[in-house]
Amino acid sequence: MPGRSFIGGDWHAREDFTSLNPANLSEVVGTFPAATPAEVSAAVEAARAAFPGWRRTSRILRAEAFDRLAQLIKRDTDALATLMARECGKNVTECRAEVVEGLHMVQYVFGTGRTGVYGEVVASEIAEKDAFTRRKPWGVVAVVTPWNFPFAVPLWMLGPSLLEGNTCVFKPSEETPAIALKLVELFAEAGFPAGTVNLIHGRGDVGEALVKNPAVNVVCFTGSYAVGERIQQASATIPNRIVAAEMGGKNAVIVCDDARFDLAVNAGILSAFKTTGQRCVSASRIIVHESLVERYAKAFVDTAKRLQFGDPLDAKNFAGPLVNRKGVEKVLNYNALAKSEGVEVLLAPNGPPDAKGCFLTPFVYRTEAKPSLRVTHEEVFGPHVALIPFKTDEQAAAIYNDTEYGLSMAVITESYRRMRFFRDECEYGMGYVNLPSIGAEVHLPFGGVKKSGNGHPSAAALVEAVTHKTAWTVNHG
Ligand code: NAP
Repeated sequence: MPGRSFIGGDWHAREDFTSLNPANLSEVVGTFPAATPAEVSAAVEAARAAFPGWRRTSRILRAEAFDRLAQLIKRDTDALATLMARECGKNVTECRAEVVEGLHMVQYVFGTGRTGVYGEVVASEIAEKDAFTRRKPWGVVAVVTPWNFPFAVPLWMLGPSLLEGNTCVFKPSEETPAIALKLVELFAEAGFPAGTVNLIHGRGDVGEALVKNPAVNVVCFTGSYAVGERIQQASATIPNRIVAAEMGGKNAVIVCDDARFDLAVNAGILSAFKTTGQRCVSASRIIVHESLVERYAKAFVDTAKRLQFGDPLDAKNFAGPLVNRKGVEKVLNYNALAKSEGVEVLLAPNGPPDAKGCFLTPFVYRTEAKPSLRVTHEEVFGPHVALIPFKTDEQAAAIYNDTEYGLSMAVITESYRRMRFFRDECEYGMGYVNLPSIGAEVHLPFGGVKKSGNGHPSAAALVEAVTHKTAWTVNHG
């Protein structure tokens, strides 16, 4: 695929870097231009120039552009899913589900164009005055996204930003430029005016130049804490800069002694290994009541051994490879660290790392909860999971909370009282009961606390970050 960037309505092709298929690194998915500093500035300038016209366009007309986009996504669902599977290695069934999730956001935005409330009538101290609030867009939004949800996550941020009248510069991960390009081609085909959506490619230095540009009003970032922290630091010196940051996790499934056993095993397996453990909400800790832990460990390991990690285009496979060699190295280093930290290894990858692609099978270990263990505290982002026993619910909540992250958790229990206890005592953004710790719905907030998020959840709730609330008081006396 010849790669292109999109700045102010013009396409620019160049061959600076390649995107590879992680299932077969000899297959080039596309070759892309890496934005120069001048191109980064031009993209921000194009977005700034398009802002007045777009913000003055009626909200309903802005929303109707999303209706056209929805039709195009429906037309191209299969092609988008196949391209995504080839480029990021996720199984094609998951890719299809992700395209549908992106579509849901587009449909949500279209729907809220007519029904959404962006102002309210409020009380006034003076009888002759009417008082209103009204939300206004900030201006230029930089959308910086990770590789693991390369279609839905950009739409979670582009959708609410554009609906509210902002214009955007989108910088996708260097791992997934092809799917980002397809998405922006659909925006262009849907008739979004020139400059409202701009696309620039490249590595972290391009993202850094973008977020350091003082003409960017809001940065909507999803990715790792390390990068999110750099963006927040770079933004601290820019007046009135808003940063909405969705970052990593060290998520867990808590299996209580009243859990339905098969459900608990299935929830643990899906939480740990779906998307080969590379979701921000993947669980790398299963906290199991001590009375169940022996039986649970056996059933969990037996199931994990049978999972098929293979060609992402074959829907029968459970999951695909890791995204790149760096990802494989990182997981192998954490597997080695776990051994050196003295855990009991229950399952290790079968054989040396894949030579052709980036496949790696699960690593499962058992350990007591210890504050000193790095492996049970740091985000690994791969098929690497700890089984940790607990005695009391208070202890389970304390183990869950003992990380710097707070993104997602699942509790497997038949007790409403317990569900309430964990809901209130644990630090998280998304909680699941009798479900895996993964999954999102676009009308619900998606975000975390501590190092997982900075209080501006994405998806529909992002409206808070991309607009500011103004007050109007009118004398009618
Ligand atoms: P990443 O390495 O943090 O990269 C995210 C984006 O930031 C990429 O587009 C990257 O560009 C760009 N970037 C890198 N350095 C930058 C800088 N100094 N300034 C501005 N932008 C910069 O994350 P990833 O490996 O793609 O994705 C995995 C991470 O995302 C995990 O930690 C996962 O938990 C997290 N995640 C969180 C959520 C959530 O909703 N909380 C959802 C999905 C993923 P390059 O790739 O070109 O370097």
